[in-house]
Amino acid sequence: MMSPPIVRFAPSPTGRIHIGNARTALMNFLFARKHHGQFILRFDDTDVERSREEYAQAIEVDLAWLGIQPDLTFRQSQRVPFYHAAAEMLRAADRLYPCYETAEELERRRKRQQARGLPPVYDRAALALTAEDHARFEAEGRRPHWRFRLDHHIARWNDLVRGESHIDCASLSDPVLLREDGSYLYTLPSVVDDIEFRVSHIIRGEDHVTNTAVQIQLFEALAGPGAVPTFGHHNLLTSATGEGLSKRSGALSIAALRDSGIEALALAAFAVLTGTSDSVHPVPSLEALAAVLDLAHVSRNQARFDPAELAGISARTLHQLPYEAVRERLVAHDISGHKAEAFWLAVRGNLTVFLDVVDWWRVVEGEIAPIVEDPEFLDVAGALLPEEPWDGDTWAQWTAALKTRTSRKGKALFHPLRLALTGREEGPELAALLPLIGRINSEARLSARDASAHPAP
Ligand code: GLU
Repeated sequence: MMSPPIVRFAPSPTGRIHIGNARTALMNFLFARKHHGQFILRFDDTDVERSREEYAQAIEVDLAWLGIQPDLTFRQSQRVPFYHAAAEMLRAADRLYPCYETAEELERRRKRQQARGLPPVYDRAALALTAEDHARFEAEGRRPHWRFRLDHHIARWNDLVRGESHIDCASLSDPVLLREDGSYLYTLPSVVDDIEFRVSHIIRGEDHVTNTAVQIQLFEALAGPGAVPTFGHHNLLTSATGEGLSKRSGALSIAALRDSGIEALALAAFAVLTGTSDSVHPVPSLEALAAVLDLAHVSRNQARFDPAELAGISARTLHQLPYEAVRERLVAHDISGHKAEAFWLAVRGNLTVFLDVVDWWRVVEGEIAPIVEDPEFLDVAGALLPEEPWDGDTWAQWTAALKTRTSRKGKALFHPLRLALTGREEGPELAALLPLIGRINSEARLSARDASAHPAP
């Protein structure tokens, strides 16, 4: 058995999270749950220009709605001295070197390399600079950015999703770890924190595969080969038309999906199972989803996000939720009391979104406009209503008596009753609804007369 893993989800708080980010968060959280490990929420907010505290808070709200409770939350902005110490260590080991090229110079160089058919890899010109060159640049007012000197070997790892993986580090530019203004790019702080917090498994999108080669070298340089965690890179979710999701594509944000009535549990099942060899199906709980999660089942192909499929999973999720799972939510809509459980069981199979319960509760408890098609028939029906108490058999007894009296059957028998009792063409089984509507309401609805259809003489 594996020892309890420590995983982390590390969004940069530069916008609300979308369903693709939720996928990464859930895969980590459920992996931790499944193996009795810990889940850390880390905000990668070293980019002070773009990071916002209100986004961090909104991300926490979105994760809580999904049912994700971090064991620990922290912000990288609070840990900068540790990054300085790591940078110092790399400098001392001759792995971090100053570069003075401007963005324009680098761009020109890249173009020249491309024109000559060479890969656009940084040529390490800065490694040849002398102390005098440095002094001259500094005197000109230039500030260096700092690159990590990669070992030109082949980085190998056994990816939880992709299996045996390797990258030839000679094909990569030495990555910039520190900008001219002294701020850190994501690469180094991420490794420093993963070491410090003993992250055992890094589960993230496959857009980070090339970072992995670099980060393996950083783990080794800062803490030795034993410090390298296990990696798993899942495929990315794309829009229905195949484009990547971005924090700016607001419609797919967790907040927007929640507001449109998507169930959290459905979103979780959809986000985790789409793009895997497992069928996308509703689950009764996050525990159940954790039990089916298997990173080895994640496909290498992109996973397309189909909003209609998500809406379908959401409805099917509602159809199977037990009363206990929704009791509080029903109370929030003033649906409580001795009828509440039977009501839930009667209507859940007809819900598209949870809020539909409000409408059905009105059918059971409140005022509706009965649809009156055939007043004489409804008069007979009203006269035959059995005495209470009513139960699940009342509907069958009542309609049997009505059938005998009127010789109607099938739709001609049942449909006018549904229209009068519920005011709707379709809905839950009347056998279940009738006892909830009760005799007083039923009688009133059967005897109501639609003034416009039957004007007074
Ligand atoms: N902040 C990075 C991102 O959002 C984290 C990547 C990682 O998990 O290492 O892409």
